[in-house]
Amino acid sequence: MKNIVIFDEYNELDLKPSELLEQYIQMTEEDVQSLLVKSPSLKECSCPGCGASKAQEAFKKLGMQFKECLECQTLYVSPRPDEETLSYYYNESPSRKFWQEKLFKATEQKRKEKIFKPRCEWILDSTQEFLSGAKHWVDVHTSQYGYIDEMLETPFFEKKTLLNPYLNGENIKSDSTVSVLRDKGWGAKLENQVDVVSLFEVLDHTSDVENIFENIGKMLKPSGLCFITAILSSGFDIQVLWGRSESLYPPDRLNVFSVEGLKKLFERCGFECIEFSTPGILDLEIVEKVANDNPDFELSRFTRGLINNKDENVKRAFQEFLQVNLLSSYGRILIRKKDN
Ligand SMILES: [Zn+2]
Repeated sequence: MKNIVIFDEYNELDLKPSELLEQYIQMTEEDVQSLLVKSPSLKECSCPGCGASKAQEAFKKLGMQFKECLECQTLYVSPRPDEETLSYYYNESPSRKFWQEKLFKATEQKRKEKIFKPRCEWILDSTQEFLSGAKHWVDVHTSQYGYIDEMLETPFFEKKTLLNPYLNGENIKSDSTVSVLRDKGWGAKLENQVDVVSLFEVLDHTSDVENIFENIGKMLKPSGLCFITAILSSGFDIQVLWGRSESLYPPDRLNVFSVEGLKKLFERCGFECIEFSTPGILDLEIVEKVANDNPDFELSRFTRGLINNKDENVKRAFQEFLQVNLLSSYGRILIRKKDN
């Protein structure tokens, strides 16, 4: 299995102007309370990674309970809302509208350069390596509208489809060659027609992950590829910060898989893993920022020593150690549908 160490992460602070971000966080708190915490659709679930039911309570965020699986250490929100409730939240809530209209626009150019471009290059390079005859690329459920332009500019694929119930027509130019499918029964509609699927930070906020993989499996041809990015619970900053982590908010992070949990999920859903990398570059920096902002937060003596170390080479070497050993919290994964 490949393990790529590259610098493919963006600096969150660069991409999120702080005043707008504060407003967004406040709006999110209100929406999560009114639309999710009080939703009658909330249901307990077992671990979305390995499927085990034994878990312990980890912490609460915005009134929702995160649990830690005792088998694979995946973190997940349970009880959780169903897909329909989430779909309403992502389409209609004031906070998400604010995200699309204000925050996203303010950072669109940087996102294109730092996030979308490297991801499209990854898809292109790996598809040429593993499935050179691929023709049809489907992106599943992105909430990032800037994606469309990058999809358009990526050569090689004859057909490109954005599968997206969250997308309204305004963002698509009428002469675009990327088609949009909003159909709920997408797995059956595109059955055995697709070579490549991209699933970028989507598993993190999917209520029923087995269902999404069932549909992806249906849609992909045998040996078809699926490109995934996700935040990982086994990553350094999540392990250190735990409930203090600013990356873990519902519903964007309903599932925070461990490396082990994701591998078990792929196995169960009929996929083999051909690349698993954690090319994150910010773990230590994120811990340092939270520690500086919260003087009452107790770090272990070792971690405190690490972030106070004056030799930048030590910090760089530590982050590289995290990358090489799949211990960073940003995961980049390529899986392939098994032939039978
Ligand atoms: Zn588990």
